[in-house]
Amino acid sequence: MMSENYQPTDADAALFGNRFVTQEVPTREFPETGIPAEDAFRLVSEDLALEGDPARNLATFVTTWMEPQAQRIIATNLHRNFIDHAEYPRTAEIEQRCIRMLADLFHAPGETTGARTQGSSEAIMLGGLSLKWNWRKRREAAGASTSRPNLVFGGDVHVVWEKFCRYFDVEPRIVPLQPGKYTIGPADVQPHVDENTIGVAAVLGTTFTGHKDDIVGINDLLLRIKHERGLDVPLHVDAASGGFVWPFLYPDSKWDFRLEQVRSINVSGHKFGLVYPGIGWLIFREKADLAKDLVFEENYLGKTDSTFTLNFSTGSSMVLAQYYNFVRYGRAGYTYIMQNMQTNARVLAEKLDAMGLFEIIGRNEEQLPLVAFRLADDTNYDEFDIAWQLAAERGWMVPAYTMPPNAQEVTIMRALAKETLSREHVDTLARDIEEACSTLAKKGGAHESERNKIITGPGH
Ligand SMILES: *Cc1c(COP(=O)(O)O)cnc(C)c1O
Repeated sequence: MMSENYQPTDADAALFGNRFVTQEVPTREFPETGIPAEDAFRLVSEDLALEGDPARNLATFVTTWMEPQAQRIIATNLHRNFIDHAEYPRTAEIEQRCIRMLADLFHAPGETTGARTQGSSEAIMLGGLSLKWNWRKRREAAGASTSRPNLVFGGDVHVVWEKFCRYFDVEPRIVPLQPGKYTIGPADVQPHVDENTIGVAAVLGTTFTGHKDDIVGINDLLLRIKHERGLDVPLHVDAASGGFVWPFLYPDSKWDFRLEQVRSINVSGHKFGLVYPGIGWLIFREKADLAKDLVFEENYLGKTDSTFTLNFSTGSSMVLAQYYNFVRYGRAGYTYIMQNMQTNARVLAEKLDAMGLFEIIGRNEEQLPLVAFRLADDTNYDEFDIAWQLAAERGWMVPAYTMPPNAQEVTIMRALAKETLSREHVDTLARDIEEACSTLAKKGGAHESERNKIITGPGH
């Protein structure tokens, strides 16, 4: 029998387990001493045991599963710095292959250029800078003022577009949304375009409802402006999500370089490109669309290299994983996966519709594989309550969020039918939503304090 006043020692901890079971973990001060590798491993792992389950995170568009062979590529290349092109020329070549394949997928008319980025956000910053530089060159050539650049886009864009405008001193001309109108078209854009417009940004697959702006209509408008007023305003397509969905689900729908004014496109490899976080792409229509001044030629570690990035050092793994997916799936594989996701999204939409509680937003339009929905009638609970109830009871992360101005009175919920969401999961999710609603109907909405704990916003 152990004595009553037995005090555990460090030797016991080494024998029986880690001392963090009863001690606070380091959180503020830089630790004086270290701990054994196994303990550090357990410390971090146990902290993460309380994390949300990515498989039930239907809020994010970002990849939460890759197959084991892809994981092996990633794990075995973590020690390779992507930017060391001279040292790792094959990795640099694989980046170029991905850029060429994406240019092909997006119907670039000839030889082009582009860049690997950390995600669509960096791609958009770089694309926006190129728009600004090219506009300034046009203005200077015409002997006109370059002091008041503006960029035109809808309220349905991702926050990164406003960020670009603020960081790089461009006036944002934002077309507001309306209740029931969650994308923009040529009539919205027209009044905002003038000689100081560096470009128009349109979205393929908005984060709010998964639909696309009227890109064909905006392209036609910009062509008309070019012919009638001599203003050549480029169109950038933010295809962060849609760039890996439309080519496979809607191959005949034109949104890319088939449209003359589309000069650049960004896409997130880590969304429907099906790679883990840390990769995006920027693709130009032609080499001339990339402002030359933004490319840095540098002599580094003995070789001349040209770079067009905001970051410098970064891992190689996700570039290699992107190329892995391209050769692994091809058009046929991506089409198969996207169609599966779309099928499941449609089943979920039907089930939600059959409950008689919800309005499904734009289900017959071209859309990302997701369901955007809202309560159809007045109830004693709202969409935020449903999100809270689903998370608390079942661990599903299905976000509720209000729309941007001037549709801010509208609250929407959104469930992504992700690659790993099986038909069985869809059935369970639909049942869980229905149960959450009947629980809420009985007890009324969740308390304000409970509600504030859930993360809202459309995610990404
Ligand atoms: C996700 C998203 C972004 C930001 O992309 P990251 O890859 O997360 O940097 C920009 N625009 C749209 C439309 C998006 O969906």
